[in-house]
Amino acid sequence: MSANQFDLVVLGAGPGGYQAALRGAQLGLHVACVEREPALGGTCLRIGCIPSKALLESSEKFAEARHALARHGIQTGPVELDLPAMLRHKDAVVAALTKGVEALFKKNRVTRFTGHARLAGPGRVVVENGAGATELTARHILIATGSKPAALPGVACDGERIGTSTEALSYPEVPKHLVVIGAGYIGLELGSVWRRLGAKVTVLEFLPRILPGMDGELAAEAQKLLTRQGLEFRLGARVTGATLTPGGCRVEIEGAEPVECDRVLVAVGRVPNTENLGLETVGLAPDEKGRIPVDEHFATRAPGIYAIGDVIGGPMLAHKAGEEGVACVERLVTGYGHVDYQTIPGVCYTEPEIASVGRTEEQLQAEQIAYRKGVFPFLANGRARSLGQTEGRVKVLADARTDRVLGVHILGPRAGELIAEAAAAMAFGASSEDLARVCHAHPTLAEALKEAALAVDGRALHI
Ligand code: NAD
Repeated sequence: MSANQFDLVVLGAGPGGYQAALRGAQLGLHVACVEREPALGGTCLRIGCIPSKALLESSEKFAEARHALARHGIQTGPVELDLPAMLRHKDAVVAALTKGVEALFKKNRVTRFTGHARLAGPGRVVVENGAGATELTARHILIATGSKPAALPGVACDGERIGTSTEALSYPEVPKHLVVIGAGYIGLELGSVWRRLGAKVTVLEFLPRILPGMDGELAAEAQKLLTRQGLEFRLGARVTGATLTPGGCRVEIEGAEPVECDRVLVAVGRVPNTENLGLETVGLAPDEKGRIPVDEHFATRAPGIYAIGDVIGGPMLAHKAGEEGVACVERLVTGYGHVDYQTIPGVCYTEPEIASVGRTEEQLQAEQIAYRKGVFPFLANGRARSLGQTEGRVKVLADARTDRVLGVHILGPRAGELIAEAAAAMAFGASSEDLARVCHAHPTLAEALKEAALAVDGRALHI
């Protein structure tokens, strides 16, 4: 093989692309991965999940030191924010993890190219960077180029005062008044960070609820808890524009007075990165939402060209992209690869966290599936009491006829960790009785899941 001839060329080194590249190499393929950013890891590692979680952890510790340690009998002096140090910690976490992907590429002999990748006909990819263009050839090409923040008409992002999550991960000072457009994952997570650090935060949401798609009952409870933390919600508020003013920014809302603030975070969803990919050179075109159409094995209509992650349909989640990348490559090599779309968890890392897997009550009702519901509050859980984090509850939804678990929804401490047990149980087709009969260590937060499973049959012991 010539230096630039590969079995598999992956476009994009986000969680979907880099894991596909690693799995391909494990399976014996000669793999290249093209990434235009100097750091590997994609949006998730560089400017998404990881830096936001670093800031969420740090700001939570700050809020805890200020407001929650005293009830554990810990007196502190005045607690002060060192924002530059907090941002440096976040940057160090990102640097360590992106370097980690680099090391994994080296260990697995994945060849990395830096530059913008473009298809140039069947089996051909051109990589362009400041130094010129390099042509690669491959038996299989996998498009994993991810997504970017969606723009809002009338909102002129200046990359500073009016910006996206990328800017909101690095504000150099705590905003006095931050307006967040969109009460989805990003709006609530980054809104929480800056609220905890002292900003007034107003969340403007077009829909009559927060977190569309999540369980409605838990989303409403989460809204109450976040409001208590100081986030101000204006639901049914459709933003029609945002502009810079001499003193800051003005956000226009349909049918209401504009809001003045000093920073705006636009978090109204994401759109696939399918521009300038050379799709036309292989006879492909994105659909009306910019997504690349694929079949159930991630194959596009162009032979040898596949796509996974945010550039295709489904939830725009790093772990969903990773599963798809691995399944796609496994199928290419072994003839078998599978993603269980019924058990992909979703987590919003507010305090408390909100986590979900499977179907919501709203979905079950819309599909006219008869279900039984078991709920258990963290207030009645010993570990939650010791932590001093008793807000929220676990909800288990099971098929009324077969008892198979159809959905689990958790609002509460470490819900993002707890949901893994529910996802594993559902992947094995567990019934609520199965979950209820698993011995859970005492005292743990996970006991709340066992109790909620018992509650499906009216047998919860501690409520
Ligand atoms: P989202 O789709 O979760 O939420 C966007 C919100 O903006 C919606 O509630 C929508 O109704 C609202 N909106 C749209 N137009 C509006 C307008 N004109 N005025 C007011 N509100 C408006 O999108 P997001 O929060 O930007 O997140 C983008 C993607 O990133 C999502 O697909 C999400 O899955 C992913 N993400 C996941 C996590 C996580 O898993 N923890 C964290 C961050 C982002």
